[in-house]
Amino acid sequence: MKDEIVIADALNGAVRIHAAVTTAMVEQARLLNEMYPTSCAALGRVMTANALMASDLKDPNARITVRIDGKGPVGSILSQADGRGNVKGFTDNPQVYLFRNSDGKLDVGQAVGRNGTLTVSKDLGLREPFTGVVNLQTGEIGDDFAYYFAVSEQTPSVVGVGVLVNTDYSVKAAGGIFIQLLPNAAEEIIEAAEMAAKTMRPVSASVDRGMNAEEIIRELFPDANIMDHRPVQWNCDCSKDHFARGLALIHEKDLLAMIEEDHGCETVCQYCGRKYQFTEEELKEILQRHQNVENRTSID
Ligand SMILES: [Zn+2]
Repeated sequence: MKDEIVIADALNGAVRIHAAVTTAMVEQARLLNEMYPTSCAALGRVMTANALMASDLKDPNARITVRIDGKGPVGSILSQADGRGNVKGFTDNPQVYLFRNSDGKLDVGQAVGRNGTLTVSKDLGLREPFTGVVNLQTGEIGDDFAYYFAVSEQTPSVVGVGVLVNTDYSVKAAGGIFIQLLPNAAEEIIEAAEMAAKTMRPVSASVDRGMNAEEIIRELFPDANIMDHRPVQWNCDCSKDHFARGLALIHEKDLLAMIEEDHGCETVCQYCGRKYQFTEEELKEILQRHQNVENRTSID
């Protein structure tokens, strides 16, 4: 099943649905970050929700960053998605394997933790990004995003995100769905949407059965009007230039220490693990630019 996001409306336009298949995207995150099942499920759920949010972006360069700090063993989770469907993410601790004793399922809520926040930052190319912060509800991610939409965007939503992992730790199936009520939805529409949410099976199970995003929507809303198909894929856009700009921002004395004591440095991308080496000469150039900028600002 190919990864993609499908956007539809239903119930005479009163409900918007976004459904995603993200198995390949989450598997790529797992391989690059050498993730264990519970860390992988937590990150996969966050990245899937992030991708579903970003599928609303009109500008391909706009991006949405999601940060979750639940104080559980997984640590912080960071994910970023843009208007082209590129998604990347990582967790502080990729090697958490926790399951519930009651049913043997991966215990994402315990691994993420509940004593913290979900932060969504939308960079739409305006001067200031829009940022919304809510307290985590269960750490299971889907509930937390539903709460975010209700509180921060005043949009009643049903959110389902899930990742199934094979015994060899590879990703078996991943996907998600947002069902959102448009403002002033009539009482019977709200009831119909709630009924669909109650009878909905986990999206990851539907993906595992071979259903695509459109079929997942049609199973819930047979009258759905499909509006758009959008790509979604893992992609890290890091580059040596990007890290050079980062190095140019650190303190001059730290740069000098890297030059004089270490004779170079290595930076590692936290998202994809790619390493970039900087020689002593390259660091000196960065330092030079640093000093030029400082001189200019002091003259101004
Ligand atoms: Zn990278």
